[in-house]
Amino acid sequence: MVLNLRTTFVVKTCIHMIKRRTTRTVKIGNIKVGSGYPVAIQTMVKVKAKDTDRAVEEINKCAAAGCEIVRIAIEDLEDAQSIKTIKRRICLPLVADIHFDYRLALAAIEAGSDKIRLNPGNIFKSEEVRAVIAAAKSHRTPIRIGANSGSLRMKSKNTAQALVQSVLDYLKIFKKENFHNIVISLKASHRLDTIEAYEKMARVCDYPFHLGLTATGLPLDGVVKSSAALGVLLFKGIGDTIRISLLQRPEVEVAVGQLLLNSLGLRKFGPEWICCPTCGRCEVDLLKRANNLKGMLGTLSVQERNRIKNYKIALMGCVVNGPGEAREATWGIAFSKTKAALFKKGKIFNTVRLDVGEKSLFKMLKKDLRSQ
Ligand code: SF4
Repeated sequence: MVLNLRTTFVVKTCIHMIKRRTTRTVKIGNIKVGSGYPVAIQTMVKVKAKDTDRAVEEINKCAAAGCEIVRIAIEDLEDAQSIKTIKRRICLPLVADIHFDYRLALAAIEAGSDKIRLNPGNIFKSEEVRAVIAAAKSHRTPIRIGANSGSLRMKSKNTAQALVQSVLDYLKIFKKENFHNIVISLKASHRLDTIEAYEKMARVCDYPFHLGLTATGLPLDGVVKSSAALGVLLFKGIGDTIRISLLQRPEVEVAVGQLLLNSLGLRKFGPEWICCPTCGRCEVDLLKRANNLKGMLGTLSVQERNRIKNYKIALMGCVVNGPGEAREATWGIAFSKTKAALFKKGKIFNTVRLDVGEKSLFKMLKKDLRSQ
């Protein structure tokens, strides 16, 4: 496969440069995915496609939360045909998730899916795959080849190698049909297998990757496991779309995905929060105060919200160490037992009553945002 020599998306974070792996571009609805574009956030709705009202409601909530591509399970023909109805009422690109029956892929493409996901572990007969490729070609529908450690046909102790091999074998069919409108995923539930599989695959193809883990456990485990695996890959420049799989509402998956990309400096979805963990020196309920300020930021205008994405906002539990520890903050506040000290770049510039602390900081922030 010939590497696409387009300009690579390079992201500078502190002194580090995250240089994205160079990939082809794949267009999913109105979203372009690949190294020339920002890493896109995906989630998967948790209701049936045939329950169109609930599906639309959930998808629109995901859109409001900042999701960019959404996937839905297609279990039968009724689900596949529902895609047409759902698409009329949503604005996000919709991906049909297909297993076992290639005819559902044909129906989902016909109904207007913006991408379909095929699992090489359960749709593998070459004549069936070729039929799907032909339909995808004529509708210009991209296909995600989504290998999953739980449904591998090849039994191997080396899960990463087996995931890669299953995709490489599958790709031979696509290559014969000269079809390259492809995204690849190699999801294992183990973090290290997932990292190894994507790294191996990155060496041998230039298709964009959708990153994720499968079966991540309880919600907090899922956040940590996904951040560990996806964080390593993203830091190495691998990954063009991500999904944080959680036993949680899809909007939570979206929020965690945004935070992960924000924390690596790959995207800017909001300001960076710098809050100390508190210790015995703290005399206030810092979390409550942080939530107060967060609520106030929710009242900012769209323009102000766009500007504040570049800010670092600090809330610190004591005046002795707070301003110094948070000196990289654009604006910050540190609390004592009776007062709140407002600071900028580590320097205290005003001290106010404790009960008006967050309000005063919000006023300063707003003034600063408006002056830009
Ligand atoms: S800023 Fe103060 S309260 Fe917060 S962790 Fe540091 S020393 Fe403790």
